[in-house]
Amino acid sequence: MDFRRLSLLASVFLLPICSYAQEHSAPQAKPRVIMVGVNGMELDIIRPLLLKGQMPNLSSVIERGAYGKLRTVSGPNCPRVYTTLFTGTKPEEHGVTGFLVGGITANTHMLKEEPIWSMLSKGGITVGMANVPATFPVMPVNGYMISGMLTRGKNCEDGVLCAPKLSEVTGGDAVYPRSMREELLKNVGDFYIDCERMPSAADLKGHEAEVIDHWLGKVQTIRDQQTKLFDYLLTSHPTNFTFLAQSCEDRTGHWLYPITPFNVGYNAGINSVRQSAFPDQYAAFDKVLGTILKHADENTYVVIVSDHGIKPLREFEEKDPHAHADHEKTTPVIAKHDFADGDDVPGSVFIMGPGIKHDFRLMGLDASVYDIAPTLLHIYGIEQPKQMRGRVLAEVFEGHDNKVAAKN
Ligand SMILES: [Zn+2]
Repeated sequence: MDFRRLSLLASVFLLPICSYAQEHSAPQAKPRVIMVGVNGMELDIIRPLLLKGQMPNLSSVIERGAYGKLRTVSGPNCPRVYTTLFTGTKPEEHGVTGFLVGGITANTHMLKEEPIWSMLSKGGITVGMANVPATFPVMPVNGYMISGMLTRGKNCEDGVLCAPKLSEVTGGDAVYPRSMREELLKNVGDFYIDCERMPSAADLKGHEAEVIDHWLGKVQTIRDQQTKLFDYLLTSHPTNFTFLAQSCEDRTGHWLYPITPFNVGYNAGINSVRQSAFPDQYAAFDKVLGTILKHADENTYVVIVSDHGIKPLREFEEKDPHAHADHEKTTPVIAKHDFADGDDVPGSVFIMGPGIKHDFRLMGLDASVYDIAPTLLHIYGIEQPKQMRGRVLAEVFEGHDNKVAAKN
């Protein structure tokens, strides 16, 4: 299948049609969806924060919508699961099986299945994306795309778990259309794409508290820049479908998870310094969510998804439990997610919007990462293509007695 060519054709031919349609019909004719991706959202950490009232914005989404665990794939990591999320197909089918594929950093040239942004663009739906993992180099859409995790650049030559600035990107385009790059540099600034690289064991040795605080400060800077970017995009470039992502939560969890002396890898010099560093990431994410929610009215669907959770190290995984297959630097890793059994670290979904049940909980692991793309297509009235493995999450819709139910 040559969806890439189709996608290009769509962008060439649909744009004039869309601008015509926007002039001659009400812009609210098409559903509006704001999707927020969080890399490694761990419910074990989030639930106490919700109870303590430290995530008021996520609480408000839960009250007004449906939420639950999301079954993920085996050996989950960010590019592997995000590509599954946006194609609805297995990693072996879509081609992005991990950070590296055949020794090469995963990139969009490897995509073998059509991603949802291409399907939506062809359907005349405007698409805006920013910082979504595994979207580098960017692809043409009926709107804009700014790449995320795996973007390559200065001091981040391989693109793996590091953060080049927009002006420092090399090896491909980080912004589509190209003309938008200058606009972003002018109005948002030279923001970091993705999150900061984790410090090495040598960096930490003897300077633990100083390095941890410096690193957390950089993470906050990146989050502030991304918040400004999201706010700018939602204000100046509203689209029918907007997909924004964050990745610093997971990065923090890998080495600053609040483990105790009982856990494997506990090192008081590092792990007792900022016990709240990881929970703080979610409280900070909640503020980002608050900014995003200001752009969502009662007719907007808000979909928050996480690709996987993250848990302290455990047995049965590999000879050296500290060796993180995808974060292969020397950072003393104490928590991870690429366990052989993906059910150890389920992702999560939170959805609210017109016709979505209120205060509804998806129990067990019935919902999966394969179901997100079909559910989004359903919202736009686009039939699920046959290669997609999942199903429409019919149970989250009020009175699902229509074609949604028939699919199940
Ligand atoms: Zn990770």
